[in-house]
Amino acid sequence: MPRSLTAAPKTTVPFLDLVAPHRALEAELVTAFRRALESASFVGGVEVAAFEREFAAFIGSPGAVAVNSGTDALRFAYQALGVRPGDEVITVPNTFIATTEALSQAGATIRFVEVREDTLTIDPEAAAAAVGPRTVGIVPVHLYGQMAEMAPLLDLAAQRGLWIVEDAAQAHGASDQGRHAGTQGALGAFSFYPGKNLGACGEGGAVVAPSEAHRATVRRLREHGQSSKYVHETEGYNGRMDAIQAAFLRIKLRHLSEWNAARRRAAELYRKALVDVPGVRLPVERPGAVHVYHLFVIRAERRDALQQHLAARGIGTGLHYPVPLHLQAAYSGLGLGAGSFPVTEAAARDILSLPMFPELTADQIGIVADAIREFYRS
Ligand SMILES: *Cc1c(COP(=O)(O)O)cnc(C)c1O
Repeated sequence: MPRSLTAAPKTTVPFLDLVAPHRALEAELVTAFRRALESASFVGGVEVAAFEREFAAFIGSPGAVAVNSGTDALRFAYQALGVRPGDEVITVPNTFIATTEALSQAGATIRFVEVREDTLTIDPEAAAAAVGPRTVGIVPVHLYGQMAEMAPLLDLAAQRGLWIVEDAAQAHGASDQGRHAGTQGALGAFSFYPGKNLGACGEGGAVVAPSEAHRATVRRLREHGQSSKYVHETEGYNGRMDAIQAAFLRIKLRHLSEWNAARRRAAELYRKALVDVPGVRLPVERPGAVHVYHLFVIRAERRDALQQHLAARGIGTGLHYPVPLHLQAAYSGLGLGAGSFPVTEAAARDILSLPMFPELTADQIGIVADAIREFYRS
């Protein structure tokens, strides 16, 4: 078969570049790796404790507990709040399944609610309307790098005696009215999966919480439920962070503010370049919210054809997320068919995530914007 038929088209603008930030930090990362080899401390230990202090300080939380993934962070947060069978927890269907699978695995019942049309984050009125006698908590997802609207949720939670866990896996450093993602609920969960705004060179996650009791429970859960060596108060998990990942994350954390600022500059350039393109709606920034653009998500007419047009020109894009959770086979048991959440379902049909990473250049943004203009001219 001729090679050209199977070879991927040449990439002119990748969706994501995970090599560039590591190239710039290579000497530091290699030194950290060598230090870990020589200390033979591979799991937990001083690097992890130092990262926890530094990450908590960055987020503005009294304390953080580093874990093995964002999914573990969510699971341990829910368990620290004592979620149990029969409890109902309110969240949105337009998120990654990790938000909800940890709830089901803890025995809770998922109660999906609709999102706001402009930001695609939880609609506080829909959340209020969904609170029932079995509701115990709400999980807002700070989607694409922008915080969900917290003030009405915090009021609702206070009035109805509910907890809030923030899924901040896409929102490291995002804020709303000057308050950081992760610091407003009972607990906040972060992921350091490589493609996140702060990513490890492997898996990682963290829980932040103002309550030392909650943090202590999360520390127990990540360590097989033990309070001291071989003393198990409950069962737990192997949910620890590797020392090497903590060392890498400490180095990368020092650049997170500058990387988030670069993402915001790239978003500004996209806005200028795409503002008058018919068929394209730009992402909405809520007043008072600082969006850190984990993803730059437009709403596009004839989305699938546009995505193919860009792919043919070597421009990488993504869909976050193509099928809302309530329409996934995993949740068919909830009995929520098509039409249950019209705003969410409409978004799934027209969202398109454009290339976004801190090193994205003005020239690359120009190439993407020109290709989009060309598509809507035809
Ligand atoms: C990435 C992500 C997670 C899960 O994090 P992992 O580290 O991959 O387990 C959870 N929620 C959202 C919204 C995410 O984007």
